Amino acid sequence: MENLAVLYICTGNYSIFWKKFYSSSEKYFLPEYKKKYFVFTDKKFNIKNSNIEYIYTKKIGWPYDTLYRFNFFSKITDKLICFDYIFFFNANALILKEINSEILPLDKDFVAPLHPCFIGKDIDQFPFERNILSKAFIDKYDGLYYFQACLFGGKSSNFIELINEIYQNIETDLSNNFIAIWHDESHLNKYLIDKKVKILDSSYIYPENFIDPYKNKIIMRDKNMLGGHELFRTSGRIHFNIKLFYNKIKKTLLKLR
Ligand code: UDP
Repeated sequence: MENLAVLYICTGNYSIFWKKFYSSSEKYFLPEYKKKYFVFTDKKFNIKNSNIEYIYTKKIGWPYDTLYRFNFFSKITDKLICFDYIFFFNANALILKEINSEILPLDKDFVAPLHPCFIGKDIDQFPFERNILSKAFIDKYDGLYYFQACLFGGKSSNFIELINEIYQNIETDLSNNFIAIWHDESHLNKYLIDKKVKILDSSYIYPENFIDPYKNKIIMRDKNMLGGHELFRTSGRIHFNIKLFYNKIKKTLLKLR
């Protein structure tokens, strides 16, 4: 049986997503495969299972909590090498439908989804890092696709190379006092530009507030309903936004009519 590692970061308020992500992944994500979850977190959870390893990771502040992801992963590459495939999911991912081997790279090395906000846009409008000083720099007419870094995967040896190289590139940028425009996402896009990537459509990373109940396989849960982006990235108290929740239900019901 092939096995895969799932990398998941949930420091600070992002920890509220773990429980539901885990149960949705266990139920729907490559159910025939043996999975192991490496969870980078500063919280203590009572969900315990032999397929979960919690790795204490301090919340260091925005944008480092996401920018340092390759640094976190680089600490466990000796464990990751034992798997056939490695996948990363953003904390707010929720899997809604069964996903089978169609998500695996197969004859390619990586899988990555198209960012839903840039489909159909001209390539010179993609928000790549345009500063030549950065290791994530992409020239105006390069790069055919803009990937969202909330989900990506690959064969383990390729994925480990990706971890090490992007980690080094981010360190170089930081040593030059530079942070790429979209942090880790800018570096991921730069790295994948000349790699063999199986492109996933946006139904694998659909924003929850763009609701489309027919096509979505994975949604990225809407942080606005829980107090907003800023609250998550800082350490404020999460509150439930009843008005947004009501509007969302209304929108879904209208779609279903
Ligand atoms: N993240 C985290 N703690 C933080 C900030 C980010 O665990 O304080 C992780 C989490 O996995 C999140 C990812 O980094 O899904 C990307 O963060 P971002 O705020 O950019 O989320 P997005 O806007 O992409 O949903």
